[in-house]
Amino acid sequence: MRTVVVIGAGPVGLAAAAQLAERGLDFLVLESGASVAAAVDEWRHVRLFSPWRYDIDPAARRLLESAGGWAEPELGKLPTGGDLIDAYLEPLTKTPQLSGRIRYDAEVAAVTRVGFDRVRTAGREHAPFLIRLTDGTELLAASVIDASGTWRRPNVLGGSGIPARGETLAVDHIAPALPDVRGRDRDRYAGRRTAVVGAGHSASTTLLELGELAADVPGTEVYWVVRGADQARTYGGGAADELPARGALGTRLKQLVDSGRITLVGNFRTDQLTATADGVQLSAGDTHLTVDTVVNSTGFRPDHDIVSELRLDLDPILGSTRALAPLIDPNQHSCGTVPPHGVDELTHPEPGYYAIGAKSYGRAPTFLLATGYEQARSVVAALAGDWPAARAVHLALPETGVCSSNLPVANCCN
Ligand SMILES: Cc1cc2nc3c(=O)[nH]c(=O)nc-3n(C[C@H](O)[C@H](O)[C@H](O)COP(=O)(O)OP(=O)(O)OC[C@H]3O[C@@H](n4cnc5c(N)ncnc54)[C@H](O)[C@@H]3O)c2cc1C
Repeated sequence: MRTVVVIGAGPVGLAAAAQLAERGLDFLVLESGASVAAAVDEWRHVRLFSPWRYDIDPAARRLLESAGGWAEPELGKLPTGGDLIDAYLEPLTKTPQLSGRIRYDAEVAAVTRVGFDRVRTAGREHAPFLIRLTDGTELLAASVIDASGTWRRPNVLGGSGIPARGETLAVDHIAPALPDVRGRDRDRYAGRRTAVVGAGHSASTTLLELGELAADVPGTEVYWVVRGADQARTYGGGAADELPARGALGTRLKQLVDSGRITLVGNFRTDQLTATADGVQLSAGDTHLTVDTVVNSTGFRPDHDIVSELRLDLDPILGSTRALAPLIDPNQHSCGTVPPHGVDELTHPEPGYYAIGAKSYGRAPTFLLATGYEQARSVVAALAGDWPAARAVHLALPETGVCSSNLPVANCCN
């Protein structure tokens, strides 16, 4: 049994697949969606702040170039999520090396080792991994690369990390992050009252769209609900950001708040949601806000349940590996950079299991594609037994221009 199973055909799972193909290792990618990058597909209308030069994995590029017929996007341009799929990921799935190696509608329900629960030790490293899908199908693998992301596990609106009272009952009034405000979902927001809860880039993106809509459609009211009092980190580094599009997000948001088009509701720790005849009321103690829709932009958390029978060494704060946590903890880091890291920082006590990509960061919100591509390269090199290559990690990420250790915690990319 030599197969490597990759969970998730998102950008990082496919980068791992490309690396595996180049190394000549046998692999299979399992994707829960009906098509490639099903999570990105849900935010295909959103423009990335990283230009193409940071969005294409080097091994994937080599496969695309050797297959021929691929038109490389202009490296300085900013793709949308849709562009990422249409101009890069979809063609990648058609390369001879990946074609036939991706199984769609294949949602992993659980991963364990054949004959071993988490407690049993003797010989477990020799037992193959057993991967069970939600349809009951089972597969065996020598190693598992978990690139399943965090998109399907949004944080809750409750300001204390558990659902606010009434949150589950008010579900009809709650929209998931990144609605297509001026496109597909326009009717829900035009001429209506919306509260966006959260302080990361997805909140900023939605607020900017709502700000545009408010300029076009009278009666559109926009509230930005945050737990903190200081929005410096969300406003970002402006012109000092090495990714100009990322810096511009915060700058434009600040302008909309300063102009009064968006009402900032700070220091608001949502503890209750109540559906009323007039909409939905958010409460934080004695303070209340009534709107038609609440957009949950509070970020995401990893799903460790599917691997709960494996031996994981998780950081108690972030749910990343313990070794990675100090490099990415948003309580300490704001620059958007992370030191180069690879297989050594991603290793769990369970040999042969690695979480890479957005999931590897746990609840830390600053994950960038370039980080995931280097993780994929390093982990696959280790699986191939090429330890010098696995340990020669390189990564240079653009800084946000907000480099302070005292800024309040906010979400970057989620
Ligand atoms: C709106 C937005 C904008 C962003 N902009 C940028 C940017 O400009 N630059 C940047 O570097 N990063 C950006 N990011 C951050 C990050 O790069 C992306 O989230 C990226 O999609 C992460 O890639 P991934 O492959 O790790 O996870 P995902 O893209 O989430 O892919 C995971 C895949 O696994 C599948 N899956 C999940 N669970 C299972 C399961 N149980 N079984 C099988 N399959 C499963 C999902 O369907 C999905 O296709 C952005 C993120 C968001 C949300």
